[in-house]
Amino acid sequence: MLHFVRDAPPLASLALLFINMDQKNSLNLMEKVTALCKRRGFIYPGSEIYNGLAGTWDYGPLGTELKRNIKNEWWRSMIALRSDVVGIDAAIMMNPKVWEASGHVEAFTDPLVECLVCHMRFRADKREEIKEHEKTHKDQIVEWTSPRKFNLLVKAYLGVVEGEQSEIFLRGEITQGAFVNFENVVSSTRVKIPFGIAQIGKAFRNEITPGNFTYRSREFEQMELEFFVRPQDSEGDKWFDYWKKERLDWYKSLGMDSSKLRFRKHEDDEKAHYAKYAEDIEFEAPFGWSEFEGIHHRGDWDLSRHKLGYVDDTSAKFTPWVIEASGGVDRSALFFLLNAYREDDKRVWLNLHPKLAPYKAAVFPLLANKPELVDKARSIYNNLKPHFMTAWDARGNIGKRYLSQDEAGTPWCVTVDFQTLEDNTVTVRDRDTAVQERTKISKLRSYFSEKLR
Ligand code: ATP
Repeated sequence: MLHFVRDAPPLASLALLFINMDQKNSLNLMEKVTALCKRRGFIYPGSEIYNGLAGTWDYGPLGTELKRNIKNEWWRSMIALRSDVVGIDAAIMMNPKVWEASGHVEAFTDPLVECLVCHMRFRADKREEIKEHEKTHKDQIVEWTSPRKFNLLVKAYLGVVEGEQSEIFLRGEITQGAFVNFENVVSSTRVKIPFGIAQIGKAFRNEITPGNFTYRSREFEQMELEFFVRPQDSEGDKWFDYWKKERLDWYKSLGMDSSKLRFRKHEDDEKAHYAKYAEDIEFEAPFGWSEFEGIHHRGDWDLSRHKLGYVDDTSAKFTPWVIEASGGVDRSALFFLLNAYREDDKRVWLNLHPKLAPYKAAVFPLLANKPELVDKARSIYNNLKPHFMTAWDARGNIGKRYLSQDEAGTPWCVTVDFQTLEDNTVTVRDRDTAVQERTKISKLRSYFSEKLR
């Protein structure tokens, strides 16, 4: 049985809780993106036909592609293009001793306070949320309980015989999979310190106040690197700075507006139990600057808690230090969408980097009732499809099809018209400029490949 918190308000009411006049315009952006996600099949509320389950979201056809593209780009830059990082895929369910050793059973807690008027609970460190909540009880004096600790690990029961089931935790971070496999990786591959173990996967947290759309969910995906270095200050500092820069550059290379990105150092009183020091990469979201990746210096906390070590080529034994880059796939997807949303008086479009766009191209016949145009367009579509995610649309008029692809973030629309039948050229319309260029059909593949490089 999962451990539910009774206090989680639905998304809409939570979003309204935080509205003030200065934020109104930017919150509009949040509402617009949320609506677009539902309308176009990016993200739906989880279990919606049964009134949902707070803190869970389902990705539709376009959102799944977006997320897959984010993960593929991450994997390419963190593993495929490097020779010092290997990838793994560890189990979600782990022996509960892992979580005792990692300190999560004892220390993965948020102190909560409870409103004595309506019994909603809030994280004691979220002072703004508490203040905003007090305003909802207009003429009452709001009193709060003193902070009480609440563990964020989600419990599950494993085993087929009732009464003989063992209690386990769904992983609260994917990180521990890299540590428990440290020796397996060292002995089964050729890695030598400094090296990294990376993975992408689901994590689960009993978040007290899930909200801001997918930003704080109870089930989410992480993409993480654990990078093992010699236990020396100079090495720790060097790799911490290196990974800070690498990770920030990665977001920028995929089109994130650099003026909306910043680093924020963790204060001593907010550092996680394992962190020597830590900085977050933050995005300026409509609800304020918000973390989407943490760069943590975990020291030797994890490996020494699991009693693991390393022997180098000179037979010297030591416990490596770990520099971690821990990002969220869902937060990235949300922030890439917020970053890409554009509108003018004629249209709404998502200016997503072509590498992230769910569909790279859409192919249309100018008129759906002319078989010679439809056949030609179909053959182009069939030829592109094995190479790029390609959409087909023959509904409505051409203008509406462009608008529909703009909203989906499709960078290029290929239209087959009567000239195509004469000279084998098509128009390629650019999503951001709406400018059309005539291109030979035989050049289409290299045209898109070039732009996607
Ligand atoms: P926060 O302070 O926002 O609760 P955190 O510091 O606890 O986040 P980490 O434990 O460092 O987060 O997790 C690494 C990354 O995992 C975060 O940067 C974020 O992208 C993602 N993440 C963490 N919690 C959630 C969540 N509840 N929903 C969605 N993504 C999350």
